[in-house]
This record gives sequence, C-alpha cells and structure tokens, in this order.
Amino acid sequence: MPKIDIITRSITAQKKFELLRLKGQTISFVPTMGFLHEGHLTLLREGRKRSDRLVLSIFVNPTQFGPGEDLDAYPRDTENDLALAEAEGVDVVFMPGPDELYGEKFQTYVQLEKLPRHLCGNSRPTHFRGVATVVTKLFNIIKPHTAIFGQKDFQQLAIIRQMVLDLNFDIDVIGVPTVREKDGLAMSSRNAYLTPDQRSSASCLFKSLNNASSFIKSGETNASSIIQKTIEYLNAYKSIRVDYVALCDPATLEDVSTIEGPVLMAIAVFIGKTRLIDNMVLD
Ligand code: AMP
Repeated sequence: MPKIDIITRSITAQKKFELLRLKGQTISFVPTMGFLHEGHLTLLREGRKRSDRLVLSIFVNPTQFGPGEDLDAYPRDTENDLALAEAEGVDVVFMPGPDELYGEKFQTYVQLEKLPRHLCGNSRPTHFRGVATVVTKLFNIIKPHTAIFGQKDFQQLAIIRQMVLDLNFDIDVIGVPTVREKDGLAMSSRNAYLTPDQRSSASCLFKSLNNASSFIKSGETNASSIIQKTIEYLNAYKSIRVDYVALCDPATLEDVSTIEGPVLMAIAVFIGKTRLIDNMVLD
C-alpha cells in the first residue's frame, strides 16, 4: 500500500490543509481526472519543486461532461495512479466521490462571460462552467499557494487564470508545456480509447500545427487560408472528423483574420468517437 495520505472527504482535507498552512508550509496542487500519464507527472514534478507539500486530486468531474459524452467510459486506474503519485513524491491525494462534491441540493456554479464562448465552448457549451466550478471547489478545499495546469488545455488554463484574477484567489497559476509522444501526439488519458489505426492517424494533429507554423514562417498572413489548408490536410485522414480549427488571439481567444503577431492555433477533431484537442502558439 502506498505511504501517501489518501483523503476522500472534503472536510478532512480542509482541516488537513488548514493545519499545514498554520504550520507555515506551502502547498502545490495538481488537479486531474486520473489515469495518469507523463503529462500529469510533469505537472507533479513542477509542483514538487515549488512547495513544501504536493497535493494531487483525482476526480472525474461529472459537471464538465455534456449529455452523451464519455463520463461513464472515462478510463480509470486508481491503483496505478497512486503508485505513480507516490513515485513522484506526492504527499496527499484528494479523491472524493461525485456525491462528496455535489450534494443533492447543489446549485452554485462558476461561469465566465467571454473566454468559454470560443473554441471548445462551441461544441461543449457547459464544459467550462463545470471546470471553473470544480476548480473553485478544489481551491477552497485544498487552499494551495500554487496550482499547476497543462498548456495542452490552453482554453482551460486561460479560464482558470482569469477566474483567479476575477475572484481574488491568492494562488499562483503555473502553465506547463504540452508533453508529447514520440510522434508528436499530445499525451492524453483519452488516447487510451484509440484503436491502433486511429492511434497512428492521431499524429496528424501535431503535423497540422507544424504545417501551419511553416505557412506563417513563409509569410502567409491570411488566417482563413491557413485554416482551410489545415482542414483539408486533416480531412485527408479518413478516420478524422474536424470539430474546429481556429487561429485566435492567445489572450482573448477571439478569432484573428490577419496574422500580425503571435497567434494560437487550436484544433479539435473526432477520431471515431474520441475527441482530441491540441494547440500551438505560432509566431
Ligand atoms: P486531465 O486529467 O486530462 O483533466 O488533466 C489534468 C491536468 O493535466 C490539466 O491541467 C491538463 O492540462 C494537464 N495535462 C493533460 N495532458 C497533458 C500533456 N500532454 N502535457 C501537459 N499537461 C497535460
């Protein structure tokens, strides 16, 4: 059995972290939905460097899944997650059940006005409300000094940063670059859904981001032309269905029409039933 402290109750966690704060200890926090991979472990290493105590949460958050999405199918392997967490020097794992965070009478949500309207918010209209709500709850339970998120979920990171500013959370938000497989595919728990054929097609996301980067480097400034070429490139893979390809302002996530400075290229595709996202800031 792992030696790390496993907490499932919010009240127990709150007491524990309050005590640690009173003792003057600093807390790094990495929220995840579990089924840990090297991307998550990189976040944990970043957290380990920054604070006295490292806290990991594992919670497959029902409010960020829409109807018909993969909540029930979402991959889970708690035993392996705990072994990996222990190897990374995690002090506490907070892993509540869904009823612990959402009681019968639950009715308070955190909703940002603008950032969720773009990119993934179009096809997942309640997703970021669920993310902002659960992260707020976890911040209130764990009371971290530092919270670590992946740039792989660029829009999520932007939303958390804005929420921390808007709601005066006294928390440093750190973004960590995307960790990739050898062929460039961004690591994701959802990659486990892919069949071998789908897995080999999946590297097209990263390739298409690099193609777009080359177009811009060679002087292309017309966003819709780059988007069009990227969609055509992705559509050439028969197992891929494009959800969106966007070029947008990295701060506001609003679409740009002419490339004049750094832009975020963000992509979401379905491979079979699996939805994968990736992004790159292009200069
Ligand atoms: P998830 O368990 O998918 O909700 O992700 C938990 C955290 O890990 C989020 O902050 C993600 O952005 C981050 N993350 C997921 N995949 C990667 C990756 N390939 N590289 C870096 N961070 C990642």
